[in-house]
Parts: sequence; structure tokens; C-alpha cells
Amino acid sequence: MNVIRENLEEIRQNIKTAAEKAGRRPEDIILLGVTKTVDCERIQQLVDLGVKELGENRVQELMSKIDVIKGDVNWHLIGSLQTNKVKYIIGRVKLIHSVDSVHLAEEISRRSLKAGLVTDILLEVNAAGEESKHGFDPSELYEALEKLREFKGIRVKGLMTVAPYDENPENNRVYFKKMRELFVDIKAKNCDNIDMTFLSMGMTNDYTVAIEEGADIVRIGTGIFGARNYN
Ligand SMILES: *Cc1c(COP(=O)(O)O)cnc(C)c1O
Repeated sequence: MNVIRENLEEIRQNIKTAAEKAGRRPEDIILLGVTKTVDCERIQQLVDLGVKELGENRVQELMSKIDVIKGDVNWHLIGSLQTNKVKYIIGRVKLIHSVDSVHLAEEISRRSLKAGLVTDILLEVNAAGEESKHGFDPSELYEALEKLREFKGIRVKGLMTVAPYDENPENNRVYFKKMRELFVDIKAKNCDNIDMTFLSMGMTNDYTVAIEEGADIVRIGTGIFGARNYN
């Protein structure tokens, strides 16, 4: 049996189990296939197996694949974005998960308005406060939102985090809980132009814990395609 198909079946089963454990509906959880470093042939296999949401973390790699992959696919940018690359992806991606500064959000808004569009974004949060990670500090988020709601070319659709790598995914539960609290708290404030629909968290190593804590989008690469080969 095909490896991608086999891995996907296992992941779908795990998503279902984790959702049910948390009293959630499995169909409410979006599986984002993370395709960085994966060739188009294997990506196409995944799409043909029904995974229509795909994530890349680099603009250049995304652009090289976007016109090759066939089918009704939505592309997501999940990696850090430099302001000078924003212009390439406006109108090409469904959601930018990795907005980590007001400055970047402003540029996305400006370029979107210029193209006559509104772009959906998530705000990346550095939930564990890691030096090496991008994202807003949770304490900066509210002040940032005050500014972001003024930008007419973006719609804030939720929050995203990349949790630390930990062999024991239980150790990330605390960060996922914190993300959920922020998400619920911001939602309750009912700000204009801020719409908390998606909580993007959980990767191969920890997606079941993330789902138990409320993830709406899980981003999985290795679990589908196997270990990445960076050349
Ligand atoms: C690579 C990547 C993933 C997927 O990681 P895996 O551990 O391979 O599932 C998810 N999110 C982001 C932002 C990534 O860069």
C-alpha cells in the first residue's frame, strides 16, 4: 500500500480519536498538509487523496509549486514572511498563518488594497517565549490588535503558534491551553475586523494534544511524507 495513503489514514484516525476525546466533531478540524521540501509528484498524491489545504513556509518554494499542483487546492503560507516578498503572494494564498508584526500586517494590507483584495491572516504567537521563535509575545497581542483593526486590507481570522519541539507532546499542553485562552478572550471582545475563527496549532509530534486543547487547524508534514530531506 502507498505510504502517503497509509500515513494519512492513520492521521485521520488519530484526529478523530483526539476530537472525540475532547467532545469535538472530527470534521471541524482542518488537516493542513505541510509540503515544504516535498516534490510535486508526492504533493499531487496527497491532493488526490483528498487533502486540499496545503502549507508552505517559503514564498519562493510556494510559488514554484502553486501552478503545478492540480485540483481545487488552497495554499497557506506558514513560515516567516519578509515584507519585500508580500507582493508575490497576495491573491495566491488562502491564509497567511505567520504574521508576527504590525509592520508586516500593514504591508499585507497595503498590497491587498492595491490589488483590490482583502487577505485573511492569523497572528503568530510565541506561546513559549522562545528566543529563537517568531511571533507576538502574548502580552503584546492586545496592543497590536488595536492597530491591526484599522487595516482595511486584512482580516484577522485567528491565532497560530509553533510549539517547542518536545519528545513528550504532553509538555506542550500548557502552551496550547494558553493559546486557547487568548483566542477565547480576544473573541469575547468582539472587535471590528478581528474574527477569531481559526486556532492553528499542532504539528506531527503534538497534534493530538493540540486538538484536545482546541486546535481548528493542524499542520502536518513529517507524519504524512516522512522525514524531510533538505538539500
Ligand atoms: C514544517 C512546519 C510544520 C510541519 O512540521 P512537521 O513536524 O513536519 O509536521 C508545521 N508548521 C510550520 C510553521 C512548519 O514550518
